[in-house]
Amino acid sequence: MTYAAPVADMAFALQHSAGFGAALGEGLFGDLSEDVVEAVLAEAGRFATDIIAPLNAVGDRHGTPFKDGAITMPPGWRQAYRAWSQAGWNALAAPAQWGGQELPQAVNAACIEMWNAAAMAFGLGPLLTMAGVDALAAHGSEALKRAYLGKLVSGEWMGTMQLTEPQAGSDVGALRTRAERAADGSYRITGQKIFITYGEHDLTDNIVHFVLARLPDAPAGTKGISLFVIPKILPNADGTLGARNDARAHSIEHKLGIHGSPTCTMVYGDAGGATGFLIGEENRGMACMFTMMNRARLSVGLQGVAIAERATQQALAYARERRQGHVDDAPTASPIIAHPDVRRMLLTMRALTRAARAICYATAVAIDRAERSTAEAVREAAHARASLLTPVAKAFATDIGCEVASLGVQVHGGMGYIEETGAAQHYRDARIAPIYEGTNGIQAIDLVTRKLPLAQGRTVRAYLDEIGRTVDAVDRVNDAGFGWMGVRLRDALECLERTTHWLLARAHNDRDAALAGATPYLRLFALTAGGALLAQEALAARRLAAGAGEAANGGTGAAGRIAIARFFAENFAVHAGALERSITEGADTITTPSAAALE
Ligand SMILES: Cc1cc2nc3c(=O)[nH]c(=O)nc-3n(C[C@H](O)[C@H](O)[C@H](O)COP(=O)(O)OP(=O)(O)OC[C@H]3O[C@@H](n4cnc5c(N)ncnc54)[C@H](O)[C@@H]3O)c2cc1C
Repeated sequence: MTYAAPVADMAFALQHSAGFGAALGEGLFGDLSEDVVEAVLAEAGRFATDIIAPLNAVGDRHGTPFKDGAITMPPGWRQAYRAWSQAGWNALAAPAQWGGQELPQAVNAACIEMWNAAAMAFGLGPLLTMAGVDALAAHGSEALKRAYLGKLVSGEWMGTMQLTEPQAGSDVGALRTRAERAADGSYRITGQKIFITYGEHDLTDNIVHFVLARLPDAPAGTKGISLFVIPKILPNADGTLGARNDARAHSIEHKLGIHGSPTCTMVYGDAGGATGFLIGEENRGMACMFTMMNRARLSVGLQGVAIAERATQQALAYARERRQGHVDDAPTASPIIAHPDVRRMLLTMRALTRAARAICYATAVAIDRAERSTAEAVREAAHARASLLTPVAKAFATDIGCEVASLGVQVHGGMGYIEETGAAQHYRDARIAPIYEGTNGIQAIDLVTRKLPLAQGRTVRAYLDEIGRTVDAVDRVNDAGFGWMGVRLRDALECLERTTHWLLARAHNDRDAALAGATPYLRLFALTAGGALLAQEALAARRLAAGAGEAANGGTGAAGRIAIARFFAENFAVHAGALERSITEGADTITTPSAAALE
């Protein structure tokens, strides 16, 4: 089964839960109108469905064969990539100065979801290129920008992101790739990087590697890391391609999923040193790389939403067709969607997907405000909001990507385990997203140790207050269709407030306890935030239904949105109490007696 972009749902989430509608109304995006945004989303949806989605299974089966240092991408991928970049999709949110269209990051986020839902292995390369554009635009010298940004923005060249080495995974500070200063102001790079996505391929004529390396006199750890641009082929002054750089792919990995995405071991300096160009200042590379990583983390979160959406669509279609058992003594076998347990799975899939989408889009809107607001205080608060939400978006959305893809297999029964349905591919593809771009464990630690203390806790408190206002609004509705939504969300919020306070108090003086609770805390945070965002969608849908009629709900109806928000609150927000106890009471079971338990 193919993928149909849920454009109406995406537009509704942007408009009514992510805060994009309010930003549009305030004029944050100049004269950009809702109609134009919807037209862009609709066109992206057509491209994703017609051109990219058919490549998903091809990429999975064909993989990316490696021979003599070269990689052949799956059949049809080069043509599709060319058509995609020539249509301007790579340049959607990039700076106009370098050929971009400067549309909102939130609109680009919805499009990134579509590319990755159509074929996650296809969408992965461009999301890294876009993150590279951000890093170079923010930190590069004018000369570097002139040499690379135009081609990266247009998609004529693609980018890679290179941190990992055999001894340096989550601990980036352990990396050893060396950079030596050269007389002409460039650097000679030697070393090895592993697991490099799109490190080599034949989609574009040149590849621009963003590589972390260490100068000989650099301080130890992350304070001694610098970021370099290392092109596969060195461009001449006039922009044409010149000499081959001393940078090559040595081999590729054979993986569980995303077979259409080449994962390479890269070798630098076989012939004396690859030529690299410094981005920003020496030893300040982590700050530059964080620009790239933060953008890529949100995009990887969107991969989780994407794969969850695709798995949900496929499971729903199958559940309507497959007949087993007789519900209520029906004379003929019933479609499995009629069974309560199957309905529970399908509702779970849809509700988790929509909650994760709303969190990711809200993060993108915060980035837009941070980049575009004219008031400095608003920009700062929005930047802090985006920083707070980024690890939640990345980790929650990719975790649910796996959970939903797994349920997708389950809905198919035995056929789910058989490759021809495609459900198995979604499950295999989804599994990488909680690992790369900083494992989800590292995201949870980032949330607890760096993001909660932002502005002495004021950033998180402001966010919790906002959730509180949504819960107040649910209470005021007094509509039987909302069931226990208000009560369950209020309970969840109180659990989140108490645990936030508990963790903030321990961030410095009982770090182990805080670290032990980080992962369940991120889940609690996401379930509460996701529940509140879905409640906002339900409130908006109800308001619109009372006024302009069902058409204003993207045709999907207020009843459906209220039912999903209610299902989420009554079946997922209710986990909050257990998560709170696991964080505040369970820490001891992890920090003290665990050694014996693991003997
Ligand atoms: C298909 C694929 C594509 C990739 N693409 C890229 C790429 O393009 N560029 C790139 O640079 N890298 C890439 N990676 C590497 C990826 O980012 C790393 O695998 C990831 O960061 C984890 O590092 P690691 O594998 O060394 O695991 P480790 O760091 O060894 O982690 C193992 C486990 O220990 C946990 N852990 C480690 N340290 C801590 C800690 N301090 N506190 C708590 N828990 C901890 C982790 O959460 C994890 O569960 C890719 C990997 C794969 C498999």
